[in-house]
This record gives sequence, structure tokens and C-alpha cells, in this order.
Amino acid sequence: MTTYRAPVADMKFLLRHVFRAEEMFATMPDTNEVNDELITAILAEAGKLIEGLVAPINQSGDQQGCKLENGVVTTPAGFKQAFAAWAVGGWSGLIGSVDFGGQGMPKVLSALIEEMNFGANSSFALYTILPTGVTLTLNQHGSEQLKQTYLPKLYAGTWSGTMCLTEPHAGTDLGMIHSRAVPSADGSYRVSGTKIFITAGEHDLTENIVHLVLAKLPDAQAGPRGISLFLVPKLLVDVAGNLTGETNNVTCGSIERKMGIKASATCVMNFEDSQGYLVGELNNGLSNMFTMMNHERLSMGLQGNGLAESSYQIAAEYAKERLQGRALTGPQQLDKAADSILVHPDVRRMLLTMRANIVAGRALSLYVAFQLDIGRFHEEADVRKQAEQLVALLIPVQKAYCTDRGFESCVLGQQVLGGHGYVAEWGLEQNVRDARIAQIYEGANGIQALDLMGRKTVRGNGELLKVLVAQMDEFIHEQQSVTAMQPYLEIFIDSKQRLVDTTAAIISNAVDAPDEIGAASYAYMELMGLTLYCFMWQRILAAALMAQEAGSGDREYLDGLIKTGEFFLYRMLPRSKSLVEEIAAGATVMMAMSAEQF
Ligand SMILES: Cc1cc2nc3c(=O)[nH]c(=O)nc-3n(C[C@H](O)[C@H](O)[C@H](O)COP(=O)(O)OP(=O)(O)OC[C@H]3O[C@@H](n4cnc5c(N)ncnc54)[C@H](O)[C@@H]3O)c2cc1C
Repeated sequence: MTTYRAPVADMKFLLRHVFRAEEMFATMPDTNEVNDELITAILAEAGKLIEGLVAPINQSGDQQGCKLENGVVTTPAGFKQAFAAWAVGGWSGLIGSVDFGGQGMPKVLSALIEEMNFGANSSFALYTILPTGVTLTLNQHGSEQLKQTYLPKLYAGTWSGTMCLTEPHAGTDLGMIHSRAVPSADGSYRVSGTKIFITAGEHDLTENIVHLVLAKLPDAQAGPRGISLFLVPKLLVDVAGNLTGETNNVTCGSIERKMGIKASATCVMNFEDSQGYLVGELNNGLSNMFTMMNHERLSMGLQGNGLAESSYQIAAEYAKERLQGRALTGPQQLDKAADSILVHPDVRRMLLTMRANIVAGRALSLYVAFQLDIGRFHEEADVRKQAEQLVALLIPVQKAYCTDRGFESCVLGQQVLGGHGYVAEWGLEQNVRDARIAQIYEGANGIQALDLMGRKTVRGNGELLKVLVAQMDEFIHEQQSVTAMQPYLEIFIDSKQRLVDTTAAIISNAVDAPDEIGAASYAYMELMGLTLYCFMWQRILAAALMAQEAGSGDREYLDGLIKTGEFFLYRMLPRSKSLVEEIAAGATVMMAMSAEQF
């Protein structure tokens, strides 16, 4: 059976040749020491830890799952040791603020490491990404006191964190939450309520758990504008950041039995008059929570990419060895009873679809991560603003498109193995089960599509898209004199224009027909995703051609990249035309049935 290998060479190619990371980081004072050498060392070190300690407990973790006894959640064998190694290695504070013990590294690096972790063991990855989201939120919105007390322990991996939004009757519509926060005389709050589906709400990996909880003050207005954000520790802490020895009435009521990510504890969490501290301003909790949600959404896209990569590695190895049938053009392996299934065009369709989506999905995730870094580190306000606009536009697409493609790749990988993909031994059925959740949590993909279409496009009159299109045009302009790029660029220019024209048509149709927004949204998100993958492939093809011409890099590797890019452009991108037709069909046929007819 193939064991997960961190795709460090692929990642380095993207960073060095496609995004020119070293040059980009050199332009910003806080990142100018992040050079190719450091990037290589960090990725290699992370890859070693993940291959050696995290991947080996993936299948056993799935089989054992988590256990809840007397309010205590036990993670599967090996998780404690792996998390301890993760913490000791300093990985919990990789992108953390240096003022509080973090290492101040760029998101680009942590995004790639997250992808590796998700590919090797998605349950384990979840225990690592949630605390990072908590630290980002605290660092951006918390008081100085809260930062001093909590950030060092979170960066050290001694404590972990959660995101407590969902309640039994309030999932997508968080405006309906019931959790309450009552002010205390000492300036803190008493938080009460029940949260469900809380990832890593309770476990045995760290000595304390820091919950970020959405709740409402008793006199808060109804709806999302009455929501505030509170930090509620599982165990009480003094101002110096030491445990006081007192508990805080935060208990785990039960853990869910579920389809996948079985080693990740999904908890019902009860807060009863638990001491909490306001994070950010009152009634601005949902907006502040978006710092964490944007981070987690990017991570979910990385989960899709990571599991797709893991499935591809298994399926490609298997296809080389599996002998069934003969090539349509005549036998290829005359000394064998049959040819490898790689001779069959349909098997190649599956593997190439996986490969093309993985490379483009990784590039898109890096593109978003670079914008996050520019937004955080760049000295010029207008450059930061442009990066933030791109993040706002791209996060819902990256989340939804990469998780959909990730799940699809896991299913395709399973199909390549035939019956062996369906049984547990090869790990592909686990990947399918583990990838499925990424399409649902952190805002179901339909909600991401609606956010992209409604808030980010129609309501903003397409202004954010103009920022993206300007970047695409800049690339086209740069490549205009490169002869070998011309056939690819023609396809890209057409594809970009399809997106621009479709956007204008939806904005105009939506003026007096609001259902048009919801009806167009999913296909529009897919059209945007395909166009972005096309943009990423253009950049990869340009970089590969340049490296080929310069005679640098592995020739076979570069040639394989170019062939995969051409498969994407000629066999996958044409789907954008049918998406345009689908969108043009409008809302009428969708809304025609009465509720009784369903
Ligand atoms: C394993 C797991 C881990 C999780 N971890 C966490 C966590 O750590 N913290 C946390 O707070 N939550 C967590 N969640 C909750 C998760 O984020 C929610 O399940 C998700 O956001 C969807 O909410 P819901 O399940 O209530 O579905 P609903 O909101 O009921 O939605 C059901 C369906 O209706 C659609 N829909 C709803 N409203 C609209 C609308 N206005 N327009 C169009 N379509 C709509 C949705 O897209 C979806 O397809 C987790 C869930 C699971 C299963």
C-alpha cells in the first residue's frame, strides 16, 4: 500500500518558479529573510514529521475513533505523541506574532504544511488548524491583556482552541443563536448555552482548551448585529497565564458518530455561567469571528487538495501495477498476461483530472495565501487594500471549488482501484469519507457560492472582480511576446471574457429579480473556479516553459506538467461554456415547483 509522501518538490516548483516567493518576500521588511533556502528547510522538516508521525496513525485513528467517558474525550493511539512532537517542533506558532512567542512566518508556508497534514491525516490536521485560527482572531481583535495571557501558550501548543458558533437550531443562520453572556462586576461575562458540532471541543492533547464563543447580551438586538464574541477557557487562568486549578463549567455532553474524520472529536459543548472575556467590541462578534472563519475556510480548501493528493498518489501507483485488459492499439506488455490499466484512455481521464485539479487547486490556495501575507506584511496601504479585496473575493471560491474538486478526486481515485478502492485496505474509502465534510462545514458550499454571487459580486457591482481581472490582464500583457504561450493565452482570454460577460449579465438580471442571484450562484462559483484554475495553469505553463528553455529543473517533470496543463485547457475548461448556458437559463425553472411537489 502507498503511504503518504509530502509533495515537497511540487510545492517548491510553485513557490520558486510560479510565484517567485523569495523575490516577493524580499519586498516586505518583516518577511525579507524568508528565502528559498529557508522555505525548502521548513517544508522538508514539516514533511518529515508528517510522513513519520502523522500519516502512520491515519488509518488506525479512523478505526479507533475518539471515546467519551465521564466527560473526558480520549483521542486514538498515537495522537498525543504526534501532537506533542508538533508542539515541541514549534509548528503551532509558525505564523504567530513574534511579540508573543510566535515565529512570524508567512501564511504561504503554513498553508502548504496544512495541505500536507490534511493529506496525511485530516483528523489530526483539525487539531492543529483550530488553535491557529483562535490566535489570529485574538491577535487581531483581543485586548492586550488577553493576548499576553493566552497567545504564548497557544503558540507553544500547550493549549489548543475551538470555534463555537453552531447551535441545534442555528447553523447557517447564526443570527438565531440562543447562547447568552451576562456582564459581571469585574468586567468579565458569564456565558451560558449549548453549542453543537464543535471540532476538538474536548480532548486529551493539551492541558487547556480556549473556546471562542458567539453569544448575545440579554438586551442585544435580534439577528446577527446582536452577536458578540467571547473567549471562554475550559480551565480558569490567572493574568500571568497560569492555570488557577479551577474548572470553568465547560463540559462536553456527547461526541458525534459520523461518516469520516473519526479521530477528530466533534462535540456538544455546554457552557453554564462560564467565565468569559469579550474579544473586540460588543455586538461586532460575527464580523470579528470572520478572521477565524476566513482562515478556516482556506484550510478546508486545503483539506480537499490534501486528500486529493493522497488519493492521487495511491491511484497512480496502483494503475502502474494493475494489469487488466489490453490497449486498444494492441498489446503493450507482451511478456505479461495483460497491460497495465494506464493504457486505457478512461483511466488516464481519471488520473489526469485528479492531477490537473490538484496542481491548480494548490496554486490557487497559494495565490490566496500570498494575498493574506501581502495584506498582513506590506508597507503600502493601497497594496494591502488590493490584497484584502482579492482575499474577500477568492476565499469562498477556494473553499467551495477546492473542496468539491477534492471530494471528486477522492471518488475518482477510488474508481481507478475498482473494487479495491471500495474496501478499507487501500485507504481510498477513508479519503472519500474524510473529504466529504469539507464541502459542508465552515459554511456549506452553497452558502459560499451565495456569498460570492450576492455579497461579493452583485451587491458590490462587480468591483472586486475588476481587481482580479486586472491581475489576469497584467499576466496576459507580460506573456504577449512569448511565442510558445500564444495558443494557451488565446484560450485564457476567451475564458476570462466569458466570466466578465456572465457577471455583467447576472448583475443586470438581478436588479428586479432577487432569485436570479441564488439561482445563478452555484454555477457561477464553478465558472469562477474553472476560470481561476485556468489562470493558475497559465502561470504554471509559463513557468514550466521558461524553466524548460533555460534547461533548469527536471525535464521529465516539466514535460509532465505541460501535458497536464494541456489536458486541463482542452478537456476540462470547455465545461465553462455549459456553465454559462446553465446560468443563462435563469431562476424560473428552479422556482416553478410548489413546496408540495417536492
Ligand atoms: C464534523 C463537523 C464539524 C463541525 N465543526 C464545527 C465547529 O468546530 N464549530 C462550529 O461552530 N460548527 C461546526 N460545524 C457546523 C457546520 O459549520 C455546520 O454544520 C454548517 O455550517 C451548516 O450548518 P447546518 O448543519 O445547520 O445546515 P443548515 O444551515 O441547516 O443548512 C442546510 C442546507 O441548506 C442550505 N441553506 C441554508 N441556508 C441557506 C440560504 N440562506 N440560502 C441557500 N441555501 C441555504 C445549506 O447550504 C445546506 O445545504 C461542524 C459540523 C460538522 C458536521
